[in-house]
Formats: sequence, structure tokens, C-alpha cells
Amino acid sequence: MKIALIAHDKKKPEIIEIAKKYRDVLAEYELYATGTTGTLIMGETGLSIHRMKSGPLGGDQQIGAMLAEGKMGLVIFLRDPLTAQPHEPDVSALLRLCDVQAIPLATNRTSAEIMLEALKSKIFSLEGVK
Ligand code: PGA
Repeated sequence: MKIALIAHDKKKPEIIEIAKKYRDVLAEYELYATGTTGTLIMGETGLSIHRMKSGPLGGDQQIGAMLAEGKMGLVIFLRDPLTAQPHEPDVSALLRLCDVQAIPLATNRTSAEIMLEALKSKIFSLEGVK
């Protein structure tokens, strides 16, 4: 079962906080991340993460490809809604593919915490998802 972790630059401190808080939950899954996000989380938590290219260089599309193939179970993508992103088309495509596949997607800190709490308490399982 695989989880993707992505954060735009201004949201990186938040995803690091979340990764620290839910380290034990995340450690039960196979983790994927865009390049910079993955490097930072690994450095701060010691979690093992498959790193894709950096988002602006195609990392979002690489995770999108996994979604299209049904190989991703949950996506946490902390977007910065106040800063224009050069790779906005890639971001939109990734979000769309989550909906195509009905994959749980958290785009802000609160929704991410709710999803991770659900996994932690076994209210929700990615069994049968991916
Ligand atoms: P990054 O990419 O983790 O390489 O910064 C995230 C993004 O901007 O999509």
C-alpha cells in the first residue's frame, strides 16, 4: 500500500510537522514523494521514501502515472493556494487523476491529519485500495 507526499515550498514546514507527528503510521506504508519534499521528510524523520523528480521537473506527473496505473492508495498534497506555480497543469492533472481513481486526497493540513488519524485508528484501511 502506497502513500504519496507532496508539498509546495511554503507548505513544506507543515508536511514535515505532519510526517513527524504521524511517523509511526506512515512507516507502515510504502512512501513516495516529489524530490525536495521527500529529501526534507527523510532528513527530518528518517522515514524511507521513494523520491521522484522535483515537482516542477515532472515529479507530479510521475506520481500521476502511478495513480493512472492504480498503484497509489492515498495522496497528501499540501498545495499553496496563494502562490502561482509554474507547473500548475501538472498539479491539476494529479488532482484530477485522484478523482478518476477515487483515491483519497488531502490538499491541506487538516484533511491530511483526518486521513492519517483514520489510518491510525483503523477506521479506514487502504487494504483493497492499493
Ligand atoms: P518538490 O515538488 O517536492 O520537489 O518541491 C513539489 C511540487 O512543487 O509539486
